[in-house]
Amino acid sequence: MKNPIVIAIDGTSASGKSTNSKLVAKALGYVYVDTGAMYRTLAWHCLQKRVDVHDEKAVAAACRKWKTKLECVEQDGLRSVRLLVENYFPEKEIRTPETAAAVAHVAAVPKVRDWMKQTQRDCIEFGNLVMEGRDIGTNVFPETDFKFYLDAALHERTARRTADGVHENLAARDQRDSQRASAPLMIALGAVVINNSDMTSAQTSGRLLKEIRARLPA
Ligand code: C5P
Repeated sequence: MKNPIVIAIDGTSASGKSTNSKLVAKALGYVYVDTGAMYRTLAWHCLQKRVDVHDEKAVAAACRKWKTKLECVEQDGLRSVRLLVENYFPEKEIRTPETAAAVAHVAAVPKVRDWMKQTQRDCIEFGNLVMEGRDIGTNVFPETDFKFYLDAALHERTARRTADGVHENLAARDQRDSQRASAPLMIALGAVVINNSDMTSAQTSGRLLKEIRARLPA
């Protein structure tokens, strides 16, 4: 495919990126990519291999050595990309509180970010993408014309995670993500910012689709 389209959806933790990115990808027939899952997979892998996630060099070495593969799978009408490690996708393991607590540390390592950026850019082999993360519009695909930034009030985001059965200090993770030196979480130049504190996912995805369709070539 020539010049696939990439829709970049960045934002804070629990701002509705996953739900809305999936709805948008389904509606457009694009491939969904969860880049947070990739960072979580590395964090889980480090925990498995007893690599100290606070040791930058050790984390970079683990990332250099791990055996991974990208695959595109289809489920319930949604095509999505998964990063396999040693041919395994740790779907449940990457959502545990232990992995959540470790992930922002591995994500702050510059060599890890370089590896992730390359791997995430490689996803265009699967076609047009809806890619969610923290640095997609600023760093991974800065050339895209489709940049969005989702946010919501902290109490609202915390309530959403609690409703999903996850208890986590989101403010601490957001702070780490925003303050790291390498590709921190920030609003990309030209991004459409949507604060969805008082919006349903139907409203948020509707707004995203309206903005995207207005920009798509005829
Ligand atoms: O989106 P999710 O909560 O799964 O992301 C987990 C973590 O992965 C983030 O808190 C952040 O530390 C890291 N991440 C990142 N850059 C991305 C996606 C995720 O640093 N593009």
